[in-house]
Amino acid sequence: MTTAFTPLSLPDILRQPRDKVRALQDRLLRETVELAYNHHPFYSKLMRKERLEPRHIQTCDELVRLPTSSKADFLADPDAFRLDPESVPPEQGTLWKIVYTTGTTTGRPAPIYVAAHDHFGYMFAFAQRQELIGLKDSDRIANLFPLTPFPMGAYARAPDEVGSIGAAVVFTNTGNAQSQYPVNRGLDAAVRAVERHRVTVLWGVAGFVRRVLMRAQELGADFKSVRMAMITGEASSTAMRDDLRRRMRELGAADTKIVNRYGSTEQGGTMIECQEGAGFHSLIPDQLFHEVINPQTGERLADGQSGMLAFTHLMRRGTLFLRYIVGDVVSLSHDVCPHCGRTSPRIISQPVRSGDIIKIKGALVNLQVLKDRLDHLPALDEYQIVVQPSDRNDPFSMDELVIKLAAKPEDQQALSTDILAEVAKIILVRPRIEIVDRDEIYDPLVAAKPKRVVDLRPPR
Ligand SMILES: [Zn+2]
Repeated sequence: MTTAFTPLSLPDILRQPRDKVRALQDRLLRETVELAYNHHPFYSKLMRKERLEPRHIQTCDELVRLPTSSKADFLADPDAFRLDPESVPPEQGTLWKIVYTTGTTTGRPAPIYVAAHDHFGYMFAFAQRQELIGLKDSDRIANLFPLTPFPMGAYARAPDEVGSIGAAVVFTNTGNAQSQYPVNRGLDAAVRAVERHRVTVLWGVAGFVRRVLMRAQELGADFKSVRMAMITGEASSTAMRDDLRRRMRELGAADTKIVNRYGSTEQGGTMIECQEGAGFHSLIPDQLFHEVINPQTGERLADGQSGMLAFTHLMRRGTLFLRYIVGDVVSLSHDVCPHCGRTSPRIISQPVRSGDIIKIKGALVNLQVLKDRLDHLPALDEYQIVVQPSDRNDPFSMDELVIKLAAKPEDQQALSTDILAEVAKIILVRPRIEIVDRDEIYDPLVAAKPKRVVDLRPPR
């Protein structure tokens, strides 16, 4: 492979001194802010409203002058976040593809325009930085993301990454495209595809990869070729990863490596743990600037302080975000990583979806902690935490906590007892346990990922 680096990056950027990386980020940001001021519908308006000109935002430090933007802004008018394609040369601005984000309560997906320049930037970074992720050009990778009614970021970008390194990819096309053409295949077909192609890497949402392994065990499938699982799309606890490893071991897999990825469709990038529990490194500091923000004031928080993760695109030519709040609570570190020596910034806390911190009976509860504990129960097939009014006819009645669980009949009684004990360690609310079928909580052929927390209370 040639190592001709463009001025858009630095060689071995994940290990470069912080000031060298920051100088590159500042230079790229200046160019981006100039473009946004002149050709980005949302930010040109925002900057003018705030009486900001490009000269006011010349560095990543000065970026704090720009107010943050959020998913609500984006969903209100997704097209306003696309840079005018006419404003950049055609070889950069040509529309390569569109992916969509979900996460809306209306169910209406929002388009992310991926320009040719963005697509090549993505391929470049992933081809260069597999030393952190660990894919090899000899791998056969199962794309276990679902085929949905619209192209989801992960489904559509997985082949770009695989293609960038010259490995092979198998599509399993589970999910539900809701098309009149029956194009989806089932879970068993996904298991058989892994077997047939002697897949080496399983790549999907953690909860779905787990169901593939579970089903492979039930079918007695041959997963000996599998060496690694790459999981993303939902926070996974140590216990959840232990569970995946145990199942891989029981299947006689060649290895039981788990690579934990953290990203979002809007970012168009990923953060990767150099080793389990070490924190998520930014993989593309030449394309994304990360910061942690106090959501009340919009101020940037110092390393180690907990707040909302926000990112800024440094070189996008399609959909472009500046100081965009992701919706996860994290803390960040710019110190040299004690585990791997990389200088690339790291999320040093387990990202917690802001929706997982909720009030139950007036007390603030971090349900991520409860999820971590439930993941420790090996006999638990699936679970869901439901918060609802205790009287379904009175939306303002006392909160009720229901834990739905799915397990083999012989395990159900003991599990109920264990769960009551686990919950009591964390919150003073005694839950009601409900035994259900595992597909009732998470049908892998319908939903892209399991919904572990459901809040049915009316907004107040
Ligand atoms: Zn590291």
